[in-house]
Amino acid sequence: MSEKVTDFFGIDVFNDTVMAERLPKKTYAALKKTIENGEELDAQVAEVVANAMKDWAIEKGATHYSHWFQPMTGITAEKHDAFITPVPGGKVIMEFSGKELIKGESDASSFPNGGLRATFEARGYTAWDCTSPAFVREDAAGVTLCIPTAFCSYTGEALDKKTPLLRSMEALNVQVLRILKLFGHEDVKSISCSVGPEQEYFLVDRAKFLKRKDLIFTGRTLFGAMPPKGQEMDDHYFGTLKEKVASFMKELNVELWKLGITAKTQHNEAAPAQHELAPIYDIANIATDHNQLIMECMKKVANRHGMECLLHEKPFAGVNGSGKHNNWSMVTDTGKNLLSPGKKPHENVEFLLFLSAILKAVDENAELLRCSASCPGNDHRLGGHEAPPAIISVFLGEQLEDILAQIKENGVATESKQGGKLNTGVHTLPALKKDATDRNRTSPFAFTGNKFEFRTVGSSMSIADVNSVLNTIVAEALCEFADELEAAENFESAVKELIAKTVRKHERIVFSGNGYSEEWVKEAARRGLPNIASMVESIPALTSERTVRIFEKHKVLSEAELHSRAEINYEIYSKAINIEARTMVDMSAKQYIPAVIQYTTELANSINTIRQAVPGADVSVQTSMLAEISDLLVEARAAQKTLETRIEEAGKKTEGKEQGLYFRMDVVPAMEALRAPIDKLEMLVAKKDWPVPSYGDLLFEQ
Ligand code: ADP
Ligand code: MG
Repeated sequence: MSEKVTDFFGIDVFNDTVMAERLPKKTYAALKKTIENGEELDAQVAEVVANAMKDWAIEKGATHYSHWFQPMTGITAEKHDAFITPVPGGKVIMEFSGKELIKGESDASSFPNGGLRATFEARGYTAWDCTSPAFVREDAAGVTLCIPTAFCSYTGEALDKKTPLLRSMEALNVQVLRILKLFGHEDVKSISCSVGPEQEYFLVDRAKFLKRKDLIFTGRTLFGAMPPKGQEMDDHYFGTLKEKVASFMKELNVELWKLGITAKTQHNEAAPAQHELAPIYDIANIATDHNQLIMECMKKVANRHGMECLLHEKPFAGVNGSGKHNNWSMVTDTGKNLLSPGKKPHENVEFLLFLSAILKAVDENAELLRCSASCPGNDHRLGGHEAPPAIISVFLGEQLEDILAQIKENGVATESKQGGKLNTGVHTLPALKKDATDRNRTSPFAFTGNKFEFRTVGSSMSIADVNSVLNTIVAEALCEFADELEAAENFESAVKELIAKTVRKHERIVFSGNGYSEEWVKEAARRGLPNIASMVESIPALTSERTVRIFEKHKVLSEAELHSRAEINYEIYSKAINIEARTMVDMSAKQYIPAVIQYTTELANSINTIRQAVPGADVSVQTSMLAEISDLLVEARAAQKTLETRIEEAGKKTEGKEQGLYFRMDVVPAMEALRAPIDKLEMLVAKKDWPVPSYGDLLFEQ
């Protein structure tokens, strides 16, 4: 393979260039029509594409193909089939038909379906998503042709994350085009939403990782005292990369580039052992597929370097957790970013209309947005003064806020504040143009120049849900706008009135202050903004009257599909906490308590030995330590027993909301009660006797 990035970028992808080269002109044109305009795919076209795809994959060493899909587990799934077909003479040939490309059939019953199907009604289908290119992937199983697919049930209900995302992209397209038409942009044939997800992650030494059952089973540490040094020196953020990490990143980039993934930015993050990777943005469903591949590659490459990649939102208490900033915008097929304000945003009525639609959408659907970014791990992060609060608000920055204030006052805005020049006071430095607005890192939903950055999303999550929700709620706001404007007699005055009306109605969602402060919690309550503390408590938003109405209207998810998703979320939450709680009991009973008993025995023996050797010797240190440790041991054992009882109780609850809430309200506190004495014991027991690697070992010795 050539060493030049420009030569090997995308070599493992059946992309547009490969298709143009390998497909007959007519087939290529027909396929492009489907990809770009959503026209139905002809069976004959599929046949030709399948054959070309197979030849290409076999040249790359592929023996198998796989329909690659994204079930509700949030990770990807695949089933491999060899290309072989028997021929007379006991031989095989390599074949792959159009039918096999387009449709796969499998047993869907073991994937979460939230009651959509009874277990015996098992059939599930995967359908080729030709808008996301196929690729080959090499691992220990050999080379496999992976075909991105959507996954649905025998009755056509979505069982995955891709189907609603694709549906939401279509819904957004329809509504944006209605608006653009009103502004006279007849040339625009389609729009898509662009997404750039920034991925945070931790890297830890694999040998140490394997000594911690909590990391193995749950992806996070369930115990662990703070090391003497955490992240307080801020010396890791953007710091120089350690050799081992640098070589990991280098190899990761090559893997991703070969897959056509535009890995661009990499740096150390705020917490020790924490890092970030950001690709260049792409169309939402491709960005989603790529983000899944990024997470998979990170894990795989880390292992090759003797490390483990932790994607959990909060692997370590006491230092920052990981998020996934979801940058989102809308772009036309003519290449125009619809969230680009231009030099004089106050004159850009079209931009102001899209902006007010987003304010309306976020304000009216804050609970649903909160829910879309919820997962068990994210509960530890949101509102913890390191990630945005659980309260959804929008940061617009000085320039746009000033424009909105003018609109609110006078119905129109007449000027835009400008950024001006940056004065460093050093003449040899170039004069830099300042952005019109500073950043605000405490905001969950921030306008960052030409896109919105939704920062609430958790690092382990698929970005399909958040983008499905964003697309759908913005589509609905634009639909209401289009209904009103299409009926208006005077478009120009109607649009201005609509913007002013919307700004006045939804200004409460705009907040530019410190989102971490106590005052904001109070202020948000005064404004009537929802503040949902946990994942379980956010789930009802999925099935609210409003969500059902909007999602059915835009044909993104039916009421039954929404209910099934709510059930799946409760199930995911309950299972995650159940595993965490059981792991805690296991570690406490089999590792910590025996280790502490051993240590107390050593202490007691040493007291006796010293007393025998030197009658009257001062053993007050040992005896007071023994007393302190013994007290904590009693506390730990009692807490462990309580936790065991609660786990048992949880098992008796009705699955779904009741069980989820019990886990949240009764099991989680019992887990915290067990952790507290064990963490204190870690500070008292000799390091050599402590059964697992410490936070210091994990965070500072990658
Ligand atoms: P930050 O300074 O916020 O950490 P990064 O450069 O790490 O910024 O990430 C910004 C992300 O936003 C990148 O993935 C980038 O490609 C993406 N992005 C830029 N413009 C757009 C856009 N118009 N739509 C969607 N995403 C965008
Ligand atoms: Mg960012």
